[in-house]
Amino acid sequence: MNNFDNNLKKYARLLIKSGINIQEGQTLVINAPIHGDYFVRILAQEAYKSGAKNVHVEYNDEKLSLIKYMNAPDEAFKEYPKWKADGYADMAREDHAFLSLSSSDPDLFKDVDPQRIANANKAYGEAMAVFRKHISNSVNSWCVAAMPSKEWSQKVFPDLSEEDAMNKLWDNIFKATRANEEDPVKAWDKHLDNLNRKLDFLNNNRIKTLHYKAKGTDLQVELPRDYIWMGGGEDNSKGVYFIANMPTEEVFTLPLKTGVNGYVTSTKPLSYGGNLIDDFTLTFKDGKVVDFTAKEGYETLKNLIETDEGSAYLGEVALVPHDSPVSNTDIIFFNTLFDENASCHFALGSAYPTNLKGGADMDQDELDANGVNTSITHVDFMVGSKELDIEATMEDGSKIMIFEKGDWAF
Ligand code: ZN
Ligand code: ZN
Repeated sequence: MNNFDNNLKKYARLLIKSGINIQEGQTLVINAPIHGDYFVRILAQEAYKSGAKNVHVEYNDEKLSLIKYMNAPDEAFKEYPKWKADGYADMAREDHAFLSLSSSDPDLFKDVDPQRIANANKAYGEAMAVFRKHISNSVNSWCVAAMPSKEWSQKVFPDLSEEDAMNKLWDNIFKATRANEEDPVKAWDKHLDNLNRKLDFLNNNRIKTLHYKAKGTDLQVELPRDYIWMGGGEDNSKGVYFIANMPTEEVFTLPLKTGVNGYVTSTKPLSYGGNLIDDFTLTFKDGKVVDFTAKEGYETLKNLIETDEGSAYLGEVALVPHDSPVSNTDIIFFNTLFDENASCHFALGSAYPTNLKGGADMDQDELDANGVNTSITHVDFMVGSKELDIEATMEDGSKIMIFEKGDWAF
C-alpha cells in the first residue's frame, strides 16, 4: 500500500473510531459529495469492521444545486421534501450516527441570488427541525470532516495542476487531522487529554478578565460570572463520547457582551461571503466596535459589522496554541472547519448559550440580561500569533498568564 492509500485508510479509521465512535450494531449515515465515492467505500469498510450494522450513504451534488439555483422558479426554494425530512427524523430517533463530509467549492454560489439561498436554508431548517434538534443537543453522535474537491483544491493552491492541488490538499488534511501520525486514534486520545486539562483549569479557576497583548493588540475581555469553557468532544445522550468537528483544536467560551475594551488586530485574512478582509483592526468600547480599519476589504468588513445590532459585539473567545497541526500547515483552507482551528480567535456576532451555566434554557430576555450576545451572524476572525500574550485577572484580583508567546503558559 502506498503512503496516500495508507493515510486515507488511517483517516477513515480515525473518523469512524474517534469522530463517530461507532457502537456495535449501530447504523451509520454518511452524507458525502458525489465525487467522494472512493473515500466513502473505505469509510464503509472501516465502519463494518468496527461493528456497524448498516451503512447508509446520501450523496449530494453541489453542481446540481447550482443548476437549481440558476434555473428553478422562486417557489422551489420555499419547500423541502417531506419524505426526506421524515426519513432523517426517523433515523435520528433510531439512534443512527451521522458523518458528513464537507468538500465545498468556496466560490460556487457567488453569483446566486442570496435571497434564494436564504429561502432554501429556511425551508431546510424548518422541515428538518426534529433532526436538527437531535444533532444540536447531541442526542446522536455526529461528526463533520472534510475531503478535497478539484475546485476547492485549486482555490487553496491556484498555481498547481488539478491533480497536484488535490494531492496537496489531501496531504494537508492528513496533517491537520493528525491522520498522518502512526496511530491517529492514539494521537487524538493524547490531544483530547491535553484539551481536557486546559478546560479543567479554566473552569475551576474563576477568571474575571483576559488581557490580550501583541503588536497591534491591547484588548481587555471580561467574561460573564458563570462562563463555561468547552472544547474537544462530548457525550451523546447514551454517554458515548464523540468528536463533532474533526479537526478541533480550540477551547472556547463567551465574553460578557458589554465587557470588551481596547483594540485588536487580525493575524490571518478572513474570507467572508466570497470576499477577503485582511490586515484589519477593531476598536471596542463597552463591548461595541466603535472604530475599525482594514487594508483590504473595508466595505465587506463594514457590511459584516453592520449586519444587525449584535454583529458589532463579540460572541466567542477561543484559545488555540500557535504550535498546532492546523496552524503549522500555514495555509488558508477557505473552509471554517480548518481555518477556525488555526489560531486564537474571536467571533463577531452570536454567542453559544451553552457556554453559560443554564444558558441553554434561557429565553431571549434572560440571555440579554446575562450579557449573552445574539445576532443572526457568527463570524470567526484570527488574532493569534507567536507574539500573543494573554494574562488573566482572577475574581480575587490575582493574575495568571494563560498564553505566552502564542502558546499555553500552564
Ligand atoms: Zn471557535
Ligand atoms: Zn466560532
